[in-house]
Amino acid sequence: MIESSNHAEPSREAALELRLRQQEAVAQLGQLALAGFATDALFERAVSLVAERLDVEYAKLLESLPSGDFLLRAGVGWREGSIGSTIVPGGPGSQAGYTLLHSEPVIVSDLTAEPRFTGPPLLLEHRVRSGVSVIVQGPGRPYGVLGAHTSRRRVFTHHDIHFVQAVANLLASTIATRKAEQESARLLEETRRSLRLRDEFLSVASHELRTPLTALLLQLQSLARMLMKQDASEALVDKADAAIRHAGRLNRLVEGLVDVSRLAEGRLTLVIEPVDLAEVAEEVVGQFRDEVEQTPIALEIESRPVGSWDRIRVEQVVTNLLSNAIKYGARQPVDVRIRSADHKAVLTVRDRGIGIDAKDLKRIFGRFERAVSVRSYGGLGLGLHAARRIVRAHGGRIWAQSAPGEGATFVVELPLRAHLGPNASGISL
Ligand code: ADP
Repeated sequence: MIESSNHAEPSREAALELRLRQQEAVAQLGQLALAGFATDALFERAVSLVAERLDVEYAKLLESLPSGDFLLRAGVGWREGSIGSTIVPGGPGSQAGYTLLHSEPVIVSDLTAEPRFTGPPLLLEHRVRSGVSVIVQGPGRPYGVLGAHTSRRRVFTHHDIHFVQAVANLLASTIATRKAEQESARLLEETRRSLRLRDEFLSVASHELRTPLTALLLQLQSLARMLMKQDASEALVDKADAAIRHAGRLNRLVEGLVDVSRLAEGRLTLVIEPVDLAEVAEEVVGQFRDEVEQTPIALEIESRPVGSWDRIRVEQVVTNLLSNAIKYGARQPVDVRIRSADHKAVLTVRDRGIGIDAKDLKRIFGRFERAVSVRSYGGLGLGLHAARRIVRAHGGRIWAQSAPGEGATFVVELPLRAHLGPNASGISL
């Protein structure tokens, strides 16, 4: 393209020097973007670098509005007060609109003789003659247009266009990254909010259910005692027993929920006293042997570690692990083993049932987390979560080893002297 110009042709060296300085400007903007420079400040720096390194009087970044027009978002050289308020018409009525419509850089040698579009008021008012404009892409749709203009006639070279386009591309990728960051921050906040709401609901609902349920259980028990005294028929007493069992189960579920909401709120007070782990295991295994006749349970006591722990909580851990071993153990024998190791007590509960997929081994200790393969079994996915919170509160560890179809082994390690975890406080008896 040959144009007469009053912009002096630079020498080869000067042109090379200019190109290097333009590249350096793009690198500088990239560093600022990476360093987290505020978006508006980055826009301002971008337009002033464009003006300076192209040696033009005007530079502008126009933001495309939903109406189809543009807002002058950042600029250099324009009359005072125009940034942030001047609207530039979209469509073929302006160089920016034309750029957007044709999706390619547009060079204007002489706006007064321009056949493709009319100059918008902003350019006319500033007696703009020549210019170049490129699209700034955005996530989904174009963000807007970046342009450089002069009031004297100027021939823009393809190097100039590459420079403006490089700045525009950098702005585009920054805009896209920041939008994605904003979106993920919003999603995170939304998730946190719904988790908070769920916890609140859980806490309120479980506490509300607890009182009438406890009353119901007590009433049923006294009803059963009355029936026995009055020599009621066996069928009637059996019915009362069944009702007590069901209410008891419901009560345990609700207690589990209350417990979990208490754990979620980080309130775990351990009542520390000397506890014989083997004794706890004997009691829990004894109860299960009475209740569950189909599953043989072997208890191997290698040693009798006595630690400073919360007895009720430790019992809860053993109960949770054993009830899972029975539930998911396919009626195969279950082994419970107690031993001491290095100032620690170690409890192992092993079953020979359905096993656990490797990808679920850690997840199942999370709140409400259950393996997909157990959807047909009843359960809330809270037992292991509570067990882990309790073990950690004592300064211990719990983990599972398993493979699908090959049973599961749960191991609990408790330091003999509980060193309380961050979410626990202790009362020593
Ligand atoms: P629940 O048993 O009520 O679902 P838990 O928190 O006790 O809740 O267990 C979480 C999940 O871990 C279970 O849903 C199950 O998928 C898996 N799980 C726990 N123990 C075993 C086990 N012994 N064998 C196989 N899977 C188990």
